Amino acid sequence: MTDQPEFDAIEAIRRRQPPDGRVAFGIGDDTALLWGGPADWLVTVDMILEHVHFRPGTPLDLVGRKSLAVNLSDLAAMAGRPVAALVAMGIPSGYSARQIDDVYRGIEDLAREFHVAIVGGDTNRSHSGLVISITLLGHPTGKGAVTRSGAQPGDILMVTGKLGGSLAGRHLSFQPRVEEACRLHELVGLHAMMDLSDGLAGDIFHLSKESRCGIIIDVNLLPIHDDVVPDGRSTINHALHDGEDFELLFAVSPADADRLMSTQPLKPIPVSRIGEVVAGSEASMRQIDGSLSRLQPGGYVHRF
Ligand SMILES: [Mg+2]
Repeated sequence: MTDQPEFDAIEAIRRRQPPDGRVAFGIGDDTALLWGGPADWLVTVDMILEHVHFRPGTPLDLVGRKSLAVNLSDLAAMAGRPVAALVAMGIPSGYSARQIDDVYRGIEDLAREFHVAIVGGDTNRSHSGLVISITLLGHPTGKGAVTRSGAQPGDILMVTGKLGGSLAGRHLSFQPRVEEACRLHELVGLHAMMDLSDGLAGDIFHLSKESRCGIIIDVNLLPIHDDVVPDGRSTINHALHDGEDFELLFAVSPADADRLMSTQPLKPIPVSRIGEVVAGSEASMRQIDGSLSRLQPGGYVHRF
């Protein structure tokens, strides 16, 4: 142990990395070398900040876990399979070696679970709380990457899992839908897909815009999570606006939607029909009485 706990942590993380056939060499040189070949890469980066994405006092292993999980969710949104990650961290100067290790453990446990090689990173001192930025690399499957732009009028909009109430705790421990996305990609024609990070009502505008289509969300059909508790706001409002669900939103043909609804291939995770893609550019909600009203974006606002 030296008086530079972040270097000890990097050395420890290096020692803990198992051999990986995809990695020529990882931590220890100026860059990592990944075995190449004719392959397309999906590359994404996400940063999480204390006070913004998690409260001070949140268990550090869960913070580490989340910092990788949000990236895995983005990769899942393209129906990709993860390969390797680079971990950059700003560590508050008061942190002990144990605290730093807790953060890395959270990252590494999830990396192991999703077969992600940690191949490098950087650490610096932070003067304003813990900062973690992870860059994740992965491959699309043989069927290619699924983008946000392929939805067509007539398509059915569906989601995995249930929505709302994530900030009660699920936002730290959610399971990125990597396997689920690949399974759906195998089974049906995914015309468009994205992950839900900022709340359905906000995120769906991105899909609508990129696909140059309108959408209708049927509020009767929204799958409401058990974490939503009565608090004066309607459960539908929670499902639309809470954010950090990290479920998949996707568009498929009506025939594929019927198939998914009847076979429920992701059991015990439900797939639910929540609306449809229409011509035009309007985003609407079909209310309980059948009338249409304009969907208000107002997605997740970071509130810590
Ligand atoms: Mg995303």
